Amino acid sequence: MFVSPHLDINSLGHLTIGGEDTVELAERYGTPLYLMSEEELRDNCRQYRRSMEEFYGGRGLVAYASKALCCKAVCRLVAEEGLGLDVVSAGELYTARAAGVPGKRLILHGNNKTPDELAMALDYGVGRIVVDNLTELRLLDTMAAATGKRPGILLRVKPGIDAHTHSFIRTGQIDSKFGFALETGEAMAAVKEALAAKELELRGLHCHIGSQIFDIQPFCHAARVMLELMDSIRRATGTALPELDLGGGFGIPYIPDNDPVPYSRYMEEVSRTVKEFCGERDFPMPFVIIEPGRSIVGTAGVTLYRVGGVKEIPGVRTYVSVDGSMADAPRHALYQADYTFLAAARAGQPPARVVTVAGKCCESGDLLGENVPLQPVAPGDLVAMLSTGAYHYSMASNYNRIPRPAMVLVGEKGHRLIIRRETLEDLVRNDLD
Ligand SMILES: *Cc1c(COP(=O)(O)O)cnc(C)c1O
Repeated sequence: MFVSPHLDINSLGHLTIGGEDTVELAERYGTPLYLMSEEELRDNCRQYRRSMEEFYGGRGLVAYASKALCCKAVCRLVAEEGLGLDVVSAGELYTARAAGVPGKRLILHGNNKTPDELAMALDYGVGRIVVDNLTELRLLDTMAAATGKRPGILLRVKPGIDAHTHSFIRTGQIDSKFGFALETGEAMAAVKEALAAKELELRGLHCHIGSQIFDIQPFCHAARVMLELMDSIRRATGTALPELDLGGGFGIPYIPDNDPVPYSRYMEEVSRTVKEFCGERDFPMPFVIIEPGRSIVGTAGVTLYRVGGVKEIPGVRTYVSVDGSMADAPRHALYQADYTFLAAARAGQPPARVVTVAGKCCESGDLLGENVPLQPVAPGDLVAMLSTGAYHYSMASNYNRIPRPAMVLVGEKGHRLIIRRETLEDLVRNDLD
């Protein structure tokens, strides 16, 4: 299927993931149910790893942005594939640690890391802390002095690139809560201060230009802007910073119209920009870090729902109500994200009509997809929503006191639960009388 080679349709006409019949998985584990294809996830990791070898001679790190989907099993799988891991909170750091991911391979992000989070990072020996602002730089320097550790840091820079419009609007450059502005001189000043901080090892710079980006050009442009800054830093301070983190943001297919570039092409073209720059300026080739999140787990995920009511409003639309909601799939409600839906038991048939898939929350905006083609469905049927591996479970809430669904990993060795379904008891666990 266009989303993933690990999705298919079997002889019964049922949707399969990793060769397993989704109709049977729904019977076995109940709905709503998050499914993850282990092979798709591993394949995505391997594509990035191979590209890092091929285009940077292995002098780089692929760090999975765990905010896309953070649980112990996924952290462990990604680490097994040799990737590093981005974390942005004590919770993500705790999960990575519980999964046994070595501290050296972790990168800590965030525009407002608390002293507790920084202390945790120092304690666990997080390899790189991406410093967002001067308050944090000074706090970390003080904390490092007290612990006798000398953490590696990167500085987050806003390169001023709007990846979606290709415009270079001045306000767009400065108006972000993340990082140091480049063109005001803020970034250069921060670099000088970081280089002078005895307790910190400034290893390089970081940028992240956005998410779900299909064009290669903005990534190449960002790389060049960052390298220009690194070259100015060398001229101003005599130090050629050894590391460049170019962030994540690679797009994935949600609907057939989406046409993402193979990840290896992003890697190839960006690496060409980097090599050309370093050649022209005689700048030492940096150790390059990339941070894909969505493109590691997104296409590996499918969510299964059971249809409750089908409400046809003549001349208006047909609502297909499912047993999930914006609580487990918030992206359509948040920003009208598009998805592909299939009737899991009739996935081989052509869509019968266009419907609106509604969730069960007490909220008119609780829709999972509007005007989407779907095969015929009746109450009791299963609907599969594709490309739900990223930013679904990780953004899920208990709105309307709905327990979060379970997650099942489907791999070569069969299927197994990796996140258990929340219970009603879980929902009141922290309530006090
Ligand atoms: C969100 C984020 C990523 C991952 O973005 P994707 O679009 O999921 O690839 C990487 N780095 C940083 C700093 C981020 O905030």
